[in-house]
Amino acid sequence: MKVQVRVSPTTVITAEADNQLDLFKQLASLTEVFGEPACAKCGSEYAYRVRTVGEGKKQYSYAECVCKNKDCRSKLAFGQSEDGALFPKRYVQKDGEYVLNENGRKTVKGSWGWAAYNKESGEEE
Ligand SMILES: [Zn+2]
Repeated sequence: MKVQVRVSPTTVITAEADNQLDLFKQLASLTEVFGEPACAKCGSEYAYRVRTVGEGKKQYSYAECVCKNKDCRSKLAFGQSEDGALFPKRYVQKDGEYVLNENGRKTVKGSWGWAAYNKESGEEE
C-alpha cells in the first residue's frame, strides 16, 4: 500500500509498505524531518541545506533547515542515528548530554530547536 501526506505548505511525502505499521513508521520519520511548517523563530519559509565539513576521508555531512529571512537566519539542525535516519535536534546539549531545566526536562534550544548564533553571547539562541 502507498500513501501521500502533505506535511507542510510546500512538502508532500510518499510512503510505501506492505503493512500499516511499517507505513506508520515511515510517515512518522518523514514527518519529523520534512514536516516543519516554517521557521519557528519568525514564521518565514526555509530551505533544506547539507553542509559538508572536514578533509580527505574524514568528511561529515550535516543536514539543516535554514530560514530564508536574512534578518533571522535561524537554523534547525538534524542529528543522524546509527541506521542513517535523521532527527531534529531540538534540545540544548553540552558535552554530549542533554541540559535539564529546573523541572528535570530537556531544555529546548531557541524556538523548538530553531536557533541562530548570537555573536554577543556566543550562544545559539
Ligand atoms: Zn526565521
